[in-house]
Amino acid sequence: MKYAERILSLPQYLFAEIDRKIAEKRKEGADVISLGIGDPDIPTPEHIIRACCEAAGDPANHRYPSYEGMLSFREAVAMRYERDYGLEFDAGSEVITLIGSKEGVHNINFAFVNPGDVVLYPDPGYPVYHTGAMFAGGTPYQMPLKKENGFLPDLEAIPGEILKRAKMMWVNYPNNPTAAVADRTFYREVVDFAKDNGLIVLSDEAYSAIAYGGYRPPCFLEVDGARDVGVVIDSLSKTYNMTGWRLAYAVGNSEIIAGLGKVKTNVDSGASQIIQVAGIAALTSSQDCVKENVRIYEERMDVLVTGLNRLGLRCEKPKATFYCWLEVPDGDSMAFANRLLDECAVVVTPGIGFGEHGEGFVRFAVTQSVERIEEVLERMDGVV
Ligand SMILES: *Cc1c(COP(=O)(O)O)cnc(C)c1O
Repeated sequence: MKYAERILSLPQYLFAEIDRKIAEKRKEGADVISLGIGDPDIPTPEHIIRACCEAAGDPANHRYPSYEGMLSFREAVAMRYERDYGLEFDAGSEVITLIGSKEGVHNINFAFVNPGDVVLYPDPGYPVYHTGAMFAGGTPYQMPLKKENGFLPDLEAIPGEILKRAKMMWVNYPNNPTAAVADRTFYREVVDFAKDNGLIVLSDEAYSAIAYGGYRPPCFLEVDGARDVGVVIDSLSKTYNMTGWRLAYAVGNSEIIAGLGKVKTNVDSGASQIIQVAGIAALTSSQDCVKENVRIYEERMDVLVTGLNRLGLRCEKPKATFYCWLEVPDGDSMAFANRLLDECAVVVTPGIGFGEHGEGFVRFAVTQSVERIEEVLERMDGVV
């Protein structure tokens, strides 16, 4: 069977070796602890599940949904931006429902990227930014996220030749995998840069609600003029422990939303209404469940960061996300991750898997209980 070029040209899967080892260890009966996956271990809150069960019994929800999403869900999204940021959006034209943000991150390319157009994306970063561009025939161009720049891209370093061909730019704060945050000054710079260079800005804010110590991550759309150039894509996955439900949205510039909608009418038939009704319950009910989630992650993060420093692995507590981005002593992220797996049966993600500029770091996700994180630290004692 001969695969299409677009499949053959995809970057190779870097975790095959690690996956093989994990399977092998588990088969041998080892108690493998994974801090490798960015998938909440805590169940979805009860009231959201109840809303879903009720919606499942309503025949109106057994029929095709609309591709752009229920107006009531999009109104709930608009309400969230008014409540959390004081921003007003028209639910009908400035919000669209997505079947998880991954769907939108991929499909947006088909609305705006012509063959040869450049898509600027952060490296290290979520792999779908550049594979999505490749699928659409675009040319992904990496913006390195370096420690000395606070893991923000250096916009001035993008060559003029590239900028001339660039159509879209991805930004992602709070950031996966580096856990870095952006301030309004950075977003101001991005908006001005986008206007000067005719770029569409896509701000992936999947971790907008996971922040510690009273810190509130700014939203890209809070900056004047942001709505002229971009949209925010946010997801219910991390905020409400709903990765398995597949529900997200894009909000912002109406022409960008319309372009995405045009693609979606031809690709899918929209998110299930049953899931969207659950999403309305999530967005409009008390946000105490989110606070409780964040409290749990923060407690785990404190244990992890304190423990790593005690072991001589210097790292700071992140302001947001459930990730700790640790610089490894000898700079080889794959070797470090392999050593933890071989000698401690502990899984972390080597930074190189998120792009070449992720080398030198590994990512810990605090998606395990405090007891399990303490066990990880005990096992690492004397090994690292
Ligand atoms: C987890 C995550 C998402 C959310 O993906 P969904 O498809 O909505 O589950 C988006 N972007 C980044 C960077 C993530 O880490």
